[in-house]
Amino acid sequence: MLQGMMQDRPLSVPSIIDYAGELYPDVEVVSATLEDGIHRYGYGAARRRIAQLAHGLRALGVKPGDRVATLAWNGYRHFELYYAIAGIGAVCHTINPRLFEGQLEYVVNHAKDTLLCFDLTFAPIVKKMQGQWHDGLRYVAMTDAEYMPNDEELPELLCYESLLAGQPEHFEWVEVDERAAAGLCYTSGTTGDPKGALYSHRSMVLHALCCIATGIESHRAGKRILPVVPLFHVNAWGLPHSAPLAGTGLIFPGAKLDGASLFDLMEAEAVNSAWGVPTVWLGLLDEMKKRERLPKGLEMVLIGGSAAPQWMIEAFERDYGAEVIHGWGMTEMSPVGTTSMLSPGMKAESQDQRIAYKATQGRRVFTVDMKIVDAEGKTLPQDGQASGELKVRGPFIASGYFDDEAATKAAIDAGGWFSTGDVAKITPDGFLQLVDRTKDLVKSGGEWISSIDLENIAMAHPAIGNCAVIAVPHPKWDERPLLCVVKAEASDPSKEEILAYVGERVAKWQIPDDVVFLESLPMTATGKISKRTLRQQLEGYRLPGMEG
Ligand code: AMP
Repeated sequence: MLQGMMQDRPLSVPSIIDYAGELYPDVEVVSATLEDGIHRYGYGAARRRIAQLAHGLRALGVKPGDRVATLAWNGYRHFELYYAIAGIGAVCHTINPRLFEGQLEYVVNHAKDTLLCFDLTFAPIVKKMQGQWHDGLRYVAMTDAEYMPNDEELPELLCYESLLAGQPEHFEWVEVDERAAAGLCYTSGTTGDPKGALYSHRSMVLHALCCIATGIESHRAGKRILPVVPLFHVNAWGLPHSAPLAGTGLIFPGAKLDGASLFDLMEAEAVNSAWGVPTVWLGLLDEMKKRERLPKGLEMVLIGGSAAPQWMIEAFERDYGAEVIHGWGMTEMSPVGTTSMLSPGMKAESQDQRIAYKATQGRRVFTVDMKIVDAEGKTLPQDGQASGELKVRGPFIASGYFDDEAATKAAIDAGGWFSTGDVAKITPDGFLQLVDRTKDLVKSGGEWISSIDLENIAMAHPAIGNCAVIAVPHPKWDERPLLCVVKAEASDPSKEEILAYVGERVAKWQIPDDVVFLESLPMTATGKISKRTLRQQLEGYRLPGMEG
């Protein structure tokens, strides 16, 4: 084989902040902080503080390969940790504070974190958990001397700003192999222990480049992105890397994620695009309805993490004139796998058609290969009809789970494909249509009913605030769909009315057998509806006519 003669320089995470600091020193990172109102600086100043932090971490004895954990909101200190930890060759382990106690215990001990940096909001978690976490773990409060808690339950607590104080503003990043780990994020998982996706420098840089390569308008120098998606969940969809690389500003919302706070922050900071899961946009849309407008300057809303219902896409695009981009991905995919970016020809089609494209999960980003397979593992046609389990591969898709052989074996097949656990169709022009999670499909009389489809339809009913469909056992059909509904504010729909509404839009055999009204739906740590908990809550439920 004739080898190319190009230099083999490693891709590295800290090279991104070097680049942004050099080319876009004034492009701002703005943070709504817990203690001090709005904090703002440019990528130039961020880079200098990141160098100081890297010195501070090294002075504490953090070594290449060590795991340093974070328990924090979206803010500039969290952003700095991403780069400083990777810059000294260590691994930034972002922890989701919404994990259950047993999961929090597991992830810190499994990762063997050496240091844990936390926002003051999460001090109660640290106090509660420290007895269950391994010895030798040290703690850093992400604040300055003025706000340091004087708490005897937190002895030997280190202060973030003291780590930086007086340190040089330049750091020679530790040069590591581009395949070395730089980030770690555990999936909260619906069964069993959480599993760790271990990202490398190479995977993170390639992911950022491939996201920008979709041509998305949010990533232009000088534009401003608001990541509502947390830095503790799959690197906030890679935004802390892709935004600086593109010269795009970052507006971090901190702890206030309700519709009104987001609306005000977007407007005050001239945000162009906002990124988050559908539940977040329910809150923002309510606020927009009250104020009868879009936050000034908002051009684009990115919806991912769960299916974006068609009514939501229509509300943003038709009623308010903001563009929606729908994306699909997974923690194990860094996470972006597909986006609903349209080709120029598709953009010229009717609005109805454009919205129909966007109601799918979209098309793959560069380097992500996808296929659907049947129960025997045979590849199915991409004809928009056949549905099967979705498998993926690519340079920013997990090749296994951190220190977990059993989970790795279950997820990766002999050909190196990763099993997503999603059931999907793929159209001839490459649009991914997610049918369901394998575990959430309703198996009725040998046919599959998609819970996602039913939810999307029901959500368009104005009297439904939120809803979820789960399978319940049925003696004849095996399983039947049950629609669980949270009523919209000041609405009181009847079961019959809702079933009639859904019945007009699906085949008769797909109509849910019953509706139950709930005060709220259980959520997972990542803001998705937890169907597992919902199934447990409704375990004793019997369909009408089957009680007793
Ligand atoms: P997580 O790793 O926690 O981000 O969860 C990944 C899973 O979320 C995927 O396997 C899908 O089941 C689901 N998911 C993510 N994005 C979407 C989307 N746009 N539509 C439907 N499901 C999604």
